[in-house]
Amino acid sequence: MFLKRKVKIVNVNGLHARPATRFVEIANKFDSEIKIFAKGKEADGKSVIDLLTLAAEKGTELIITAHGDDAPEALDALRGLISDKFEEEQMETIMGLGVSPGVVVREAFVYETEGYRIPRHLITPKEVPHEIKRLEKALEEASKEIDALEREVSIKLGSEIGAIFGTHRTILHDERLKREFIERIEKTKFTPEYSISLSLRVYIRKLRVVEDPFLSERVSDIFDIERRLLRKLLGEKKQELKALTDEVVLVAHDLSPSETVSLDTTKVKGFATDVGGRTSHSAIVAKALGIPAVVGLGNVTTDVFGGDYVIIDGNHGIVIVRPDEKTLREYRTREKKIRVFEVKLSAELKDVPAETPDGRLISLLGNIESPKEISTTLEHGAGGIGLYRTEFLYLGTDALPTEADHFNAYSEAVRELGDKPIIIRTVDLGADKFISGDGHRERNPFLGCRSIRYCFEHPDIFTAQIRAILRASANGNIKILFPLISSLQELRQAKHMVRKVMDELSHEGIPFDDKIQMGVMIEVPSAVIIADALAKEVNFFSIGTNDLIQYSLAVDRDNERVAYLYSQAHPAILRLLKMTIKAAEENNIPVGICGEMGSDLEFTILLVGLGLSELSVAPAMIIPEVKKVIRSITYEDAKKIAENICSFDDPDKTTKHLRGIATEILPEIFCN
Ligand code: PEP
Ligand code: MG
Repeated sequence: MFLKRKVKIVNVNGLHARPATRFVEIANKFDSEIKIFAKGKEADGKSVIDLLTLAAEKGTELIITAHGDDAPEALDALRGLISDKFEEEQMETIMGLGVSPGVVVREAFVYETEGYRIPRHLITPKEVPHEIKRLEKALEEASKEIDALEREVSIKLGSEIGAIFGTHRTILHDERLKREFIERIEKTKFTPEYSISLSLRVYIRKLRVVEDPFLSERVSDIFDIERRLLRKLLGEKKQELKALTDEVVLVAHDLSPSETVSLDTTKVKGFATDVGGRTSHSAIVAKALGIPAVVGLGNVTTDVFGGDYVIIDGNHGIVIVRPDEKTLREYRTREKKIRVFEVKLSAELKDVPAETPDGRLISLLGNIESPKEISTTLEHGAGGIGLYRTEFLYLGTDALPTEADHFNAYSEAVRELGDKPIIIRTVDLGADKFISGDGHRERNPFLGCRSIRYCFEHPDIFTAQIRAILRASANGNIKILFPLISSLQELRQAKHMVRKVMDELSHEGIPFDDKIQMGVMIEVPSAVIIADALAKEVNFFSIGTNDLIQYSLAVDRDNERVAYLYSQAHPAILRLLKMTIKAAEENNIPVGICGEMGSDLEFTILLVGLGLSELSVAPAMIIPEVKKVIRSITYEDAKKIAENICSFDDPDKTTKHLRGIATEILPEIFCN
C-alpha cells in the first residue's frame, strides 16, 4: 500500500537533531518504507542524517509517504508526532535562585557530569561498527574496574561494603541496556557517549519521580556509571569550556569559582546550575561577569538538552526551557528594555553623588575580583572599590602567584583608580576557594582552615601579599581588609604580621604608606559580639553578610536545599547589623557592607536607614540603580522605615514591605 500525507512543522526549533531522532524512532517501529519531501529535497524517514539535511524549520510543509502494509498506521503516528511538536517541545518553567540579575535567551550548552562535554555530532554509517566496538570496550573496561574495586573494598572493609558495587556491576552487565545503547548508535547515528547519556538520563528521570527511597538512591549509581563510561570513552579528556565557538547559556550541575572565573563571556551569556545558593562564590563571580544566572534548580541538567532554547531570568530566579514563541518574544523585548533603561540611568547618574535629598552622603563603591573590572565599575559611577577579592589571583592557575604578581595586580588597580580608594582584602582561600593541587580536603571546610586562618598557616603566602599591598600603597589610596576575624587575637596577629613587613620594607628602603588603614570584615557572629573591642583597634568595618548569615543562621550558603532558610531579612541578621553599626559609631569608625545584601536593591533603604555609611556592590551595572534609590528618599524617612522594620518578627513581612517601597521608586526594574 502506498500513502501520502501533507503536514506542516509547528514546533519553534523545526526538525533539528532531537525531533529528527524522535521521528526516526517512531518510523522504525513500522515496516513500511518512509520518505519525506520538503523544499524540493527527498529524505529517508528512517535516517536522522537524511532528515537533518532537509533543514526544515518551523512552517515548512512536509510530504510524508509510506509504502508497505502498515502505511496508514505509520502515517498517523508520524503526523501525530509532528503536530504534537515532537512531544518534547513543551515549555517548562523551573524555579531556582536568581543570583545575578538580567535576562538572556540563547541555546543551551549542557556542561556534562564532571565537566565532560559529550560529543553530539552524528556519525556516518561507516563509523557505526567502530563506534559500537568503542562502546563495548568501554563497558568491558568499566566492568573490570568495578570488579577490581569490589574485590579490593571487600578485602579491606568486608564483603558487605564491597557489595555496594554489586548494583553497578549488574547495571553494566545488563544485556538489555547494552542492546539499547547499540540500537541508538545504529539507528540514530549518535556517538556512543551521547547514546549512553540519553539512555541513562531516561532512567534517571524515571527513578527521580519514584517515591521509594531505595529506588531514588539508585540515581546516584546511574550517574556514577555514566561518569565511569564517559571517562572510558573520552579517555579522561575533559572538554574545555574555553573551546566554545557560539554564544550559549551554560547549563551545569555545578560550577566551581575557578571554573566560573575562567568563563569566556563573549560566548557564555548566562548560566543555570542544579545546585548552589544565593551567595555561592560562583554566583558572586557570575555577577562580576555581568551575566544573568540562576542556581539551585534541582535537575536542570537532566531537563535541558544541548541546543534547546533556554531563557535565564536572573531577576526572578526562573529558567524557562524550550519557550514557546510568545514567551520567547516577550523575553527578548524584556531583555532589550532593561538594557535601554540601565544605559539611560547610568548616563544620568554617573557623575552625581550617592546622596539622600537631606544631605546624607553614602560612599558607593564596587566589589571586584580582578582589576580588569575597575574601569566598568567607575564608568557606572562608583566612588572606588570597597572589596577586592584577591584570592581570585590564585584560582584557575596551577602556580602560586608571586609577590610580583600581587604587586602588578595592585599597581594596575591603583593606576586605574587614581586617588579613589580601594579596599584590598587579604586572601580568603579555603572552603570553596581552594588552590588547585592543595590536597587538604576538610570535613567542614567553611568552619575549617579558611581565610585568615589559612594565611596564618601559610605565612609565606600572607607575607608576600602584604609586601605587595604595602609597596603598591606608595602610589595610591589603598586600605587593607582582614577576612573572617573571629577574635581580637586573630586581628592582633594579622596586624603584627603587617607591622613586621613594614619594618622589613623600611629597612630595605622601599616606600609604602605607613599610615595605611586596616579594617576587619564582620562576618562571624563572634566578631559582632566583640565589635566594640575590635572597633578600638581598626580603622573601619566592612560587613560580610554572605558569611555572617551562613554562620549566624547555621545555613550553608552553597546548599540549595536549605536556601529557603538563608534570609537577609531574618530579625537576627538585622539585629547583628544594628549592633555592628552601633559599635562603629561609638568608636567613630566608618562601617560599610560588602556582602551581597548590599547589592540587593530592595534592601538599600533599610541599610541606609540603619546607618551604614558605605555600600560596596556588584555587578557594576547595579550602581546607578542603587544611587537612584539613595537619591530618592531622605535619611530621616529611611531611618523611620528601618526602625519600623526592626520591629517585624517575620522575614517575609520585611521583604514584602521593602519590595513595595522599592517598586514605587524603581518600577522599571521591579515591575519587570
Ligand atoms: C561575605 O562573606 O559577605 C563576603 C563579602 O565575603 P565572601 O563572599 O568573599 O566570602
Ligand atoms: Mg566572606
